[in-house]
Amino acid sequence: MTTRIDLFSSAAGEVSTWIVGDDEEVIVIDPGADAAGLLDAVGDREVLAVICTHGHAAHVAAAFEVAERDEAPVALHPRDRSLWRETHPDEDADIEMEDGGVFEVADVRLDVIHAPGHTAGSVCLYCEGLGAVFTGHVLLAEGPAPHDGEYPDFAGQLTAIGGYLLTLPADTRVLPGHGRQTTIATAEKKFDAWVAGQGSGPVLGG
Ligand SMILES: [Zn+2]
Ligand SMILES: [Zn+2]
Repeated sequence: MTTRIDLFSSAAGEVSTWIVGDDEEVIVIDPGADAAGLLDAVGDREVLAVICTHGHAAHVAAAFEVAERDEAPVALHPRDRSLWRETHPDEDADIEMEDGGVFEVADVRLDVIHAPGHTAGSVCLYCEGLGAVFTGHVLLAEGPAPHDGEYPDFAGQLTAIGGYLLTLPADTRVLPGHGRQTTIATAEKKFDAWVAGQGSGPVLGG
């Protein structure tokens, strides 16, 4: 059985939800807001976990609704808990992710990389088996993602990109929380311009 990565997005410009797995089971990364549409895309495959790359509302809105169907746990880094509560005031995530944490699905594993900057609890998920890293809002094809037009911690975000993401194999696919995908090799070429403050990502509300 082939383990693969599917993309679900409810509309252009909306959150890119990544579905990692095979014909039997999947992990959902960034559920977005359209639970019904996403569960349609998952089909009858079992959801093992719903992972949120960070706590911003547009990325986590449907988390519990998606997780509920198969009684899957929802995972979040604890440093985004206060952001999370702006969307889900009455219920916390089930799993507190940490740097170095591991999820397994089908025949691959996802390694948790804590990458603070965009938010304090932002994470990336690296899947060596599929040659891909899921970067949420840490890194888009255009560069580090701002929030509401601003960078809460630009230096931290660049450190996370330079210190962790750019150490991955050059041909690793970068699968972000919005828009086009890129590769580590391409990001590496653009990195100096980002440090110089050029070529930052598009302004996003979520
Ligand atoms: Zn965000
Ligand atoms: Zn977003």
